[in-house]
Order: sequence, then structure tokens, then C-alpha cells
Amino acid sequence: MASGKPLVLRGSHASGRPGSGLLGGILFALAVLVVNYLVFFRSSTAEPPSLEQRLASPVEVLPVETLNALAAQAAPQTAAPELVEATLGRGDTSAQALARAGISRAASAAALEALASEVDMRSLHPGQKYLAGRMPDGSLAYLRFPLDKVRFIEVAPGEDGWTVSRQEVPTEKETVEFACMIRGSLYESLSRCGADPALAPVLADMLGGQVDFHTDVRKGDLVRVVVDRETLGGTFLRYGRVHGLLYEGKLVSGGAFPWESADGEVKYFDPDGNSIERPFLRSPMKYTRISSDYTNRRLHPILHNYSPHRAIDYAAPAGTPVYAVGDGKVIFAGKKGANGNLVVVQHQDGFQSYYAHLSRFAKGLKVGSEIGRRTLIGAVGSTGRSTGPHLHFAVAKNGTFVHPRKLLEVRGERLDEAAVSDFQATVGRITGRLKALPIRGSEASKS
Ligand SMILES: [Zn+2]
Repeated sequence: MASGKPLVLRGSHASGRPGSGLLGGILFALAVLVVNYLVFFRSSTAEPPSLEQRLASPVEVLPVETLNALAAQAAPQTAAPELVEATLGRGDTSAQALARAGISRAASAAALEALASEVDMRSLHPGQKYLAGRMPDGSLAYLRFPLDKVRFIEVAPGEDGWTVSRQEVPTEKETVEFACMIRGSLYESLSRCGADPALAPVLADMLGGQVDFHTDVRKGDLVRVVVDRETLGGTFLRYGRVHGLLYEGKLVSGGAFPWESADGEVKYFDPDGNSIERPFLRSPMKYTRISSDYTNRRLHPILHNYSPHRAIDYAAPAGTPVYAVGDGKVIFAGKKGANGNLVVVQHQDGFQSYYAHLSRFAKGLKVGSEIGRRTLIGAVGSTGRSTGPHLHFAVAKNGTFVHPRKLLEVRGERLDEAAVSDFQATVGRITGRLKALPIRGSEASKS
């Protein structure tokens, strides 16, 4: 509810946009490598999460029985090592964990030493798994350190002692396509339409610049998608590349289609050829409702006079995290009269964003901090002139408050002009395919 004049401060524009986590997660290219009795794929060209990120929590791996069954299918042999699993216990060393799985200490010592060149062994958590190829005499054919269900670091005998490599289990891929009628949340709708709900955040993220899933979704809207689905040993793993995505809504429509540049990088664009990655988020937080919209004239709830409210008030429980809507530089972080605890961020094109009434500031946030889109800046509160927990979110452009929706008019990067006609031909072809799909999930619901 705070008001006031925009801070006229011009910071230099922040560093480049953070890379797309989504694309990094779903895109990878594989090359074949035959090892032992499994056919493995070399690690992908996409950037996987850092080792530190992976080690933050113990990883899940497929059951040993499944892996052994897969191996037997791939190449039945007689003198193959048996695949065993070892789990690090509290206060355990890796050698102790492997010894419990029947691997002799003499066999594991050199392999673990080689592994230590890639993995900080002191940062391992209880629950960390190892997979080992155990020979009948307790010696080691290979040692695998899983990074997730698919990727692992393998230590195996080489010409010069143990060698370490990053590998991937080959997944089975199929392309699935469906059209799904929205009833309830995207998550519920996709489940009802027979898709794994893991697809919901993928699609919501891709459409996020075009569709506000808080406010724009109506019953009967349609989502149409062609997407790669990966399984391992019959178990669903993840969704891969989206080949085409359309959202046909009563309020808004949108879409996303991949385009591979000459250097092999795949990015997604809306049907008009604008990157689906918008420079600004639709809202700085998850909110319950908009308690006060942008207006040039409203009755003030505390002052009881008519005054403009050149901001949006998002109601949400105290403590709800608040994120920067775009890349930029913090130019104010502190108490400021009716605003209470306020953060102001300077963005590109003369835009500034204001976050008022915060209960607290994000750790380490200070004036001069260069921050990215979705950087945590604080938590919802009711400091300053406020009747209850909410975020007063304002946007100024070149010193004048403007409707925050102005930020959404800032488009993502354009597809390379030379590629536009090919892209549009592809979009046309996939759109035809998408529109021809039978619609699932339209049966009358019981509730
Ligand atoms: Zn307000």
C-alpha cells in the first residue's frame, strides 16, 4: 500500500541472463560405448547439475534386480561380475560400505582412490549408493558412483591402473503426443489424461511467459503436446525434448516449439518466433490473491482518502518467498517510511522493481548486489503502513511508476531472422499434427 516517488537511480545493467535450467535438464545427446555387458552412453553435451548439487542429497538408483535383469538382457554372459549395491552408513567410510557388500578392502582401495580424483569423498552423505561389479573372489570388476538414476561415474581397470569416466545408462525413448482438456490444475488434468504429472512443471515453465497458471486457466482449455518420454527398464524416468506445445485457452493462448541453431543448441520459441524465455517474471511470488490492483484513484484503507495505488498488492502468508522479477542490480535495501522494509532493483531498459512491506531481506542481499531473475530477495511481511501481510509490488520506468504488466511486454530474444521461414514451416507442420489429436480428459467428472 505504500506510495511515494520512484527512486531515480540508474545502475548499470546486470550480467547476462542465467542459462535455461529447463533446457539443460531435458536435452542431451548420446554417443554409444560398449562396456562390459551393458551398453552405455557417454555423458551428454547438455550441462548436467554440478556434482555439489547432486551430492546435496542421496541419489535414488534403480533396484539392483532391475539393473541385473537389464544387463542379462543386453548381453548374457557366464563369467560376468555380479552387480551389488553398497550404501554409505552414518560414520562409515566408503571402503567399509563396500566391504559389507562383499568387496575386499584390497580391491576397493585403489578404485576409491581413483574416484577421489573426481568426487570430494568427505562431502558424501549417509545413504550415498555405490554399485559395484563383484567377482566371485571379492575383487572388483568396476565401481560405479551414481549421480542420478541415469548418470554415474565409473571406475574401471584401464591400461594404467584404474580409470575414471562419466557415463550414462541408455534409456528407452518414445515420442508421445496427446491433447488434454484442462479441468482443475494442470497437474490434475495431465494425470487424468494419462500423462505422468512430472510433465506439469515442464509445460508450465515453457508456457510461463505466455500463460499465467494462477489466473489465466479456465476449465475446458486445451493443452496439446508432442514430447519424448524416457523409460529405463520399463520404469518412467523423465520427459525429454518437447517437439511442440500449444495452449488453447479461453483467456490466453500460447505455444512453444524447439529450434536448433547451427551450433546445435536447442532453444524454444513461441509460434511468432520470440524466445519463450522472457526477461521478466509474471509475478514476484506465489500469491493467494491480488488484494489491491494498480489504479490511479482508489480509497485508501488506512488514510481513507482517494489516492492512486500505482502498484499491485499480492496477498500471501507472512514469510512467503519473494523473488526478483528480472536480472538487475539492487539499488535499495532497507527501511523506507510507509514502505517498511523495501528492496528496489534496477533492470534493463530503465525499469525498476519495488518490493515493499517485507518481513525480512534475503541473506547476503545488499545494495550493489547483481542478481538474476528468480533470485530470492526477501519474504512477505507487513512492515511499514500495511493492514496485513502482503507484497506491494511496483514498477517504475525512467522515474515514473507504470503498470507492472509493462514488464511483460518486454519480449524474449527473437529467432535469428534467417531461420524464421524454416521455423514457421516446422511450426505449421507440428501444429497440424497437434490439432488433429483426439482430446482426452473431456469426459464428465463425478465431482
Ligand atoms: Zn500497495
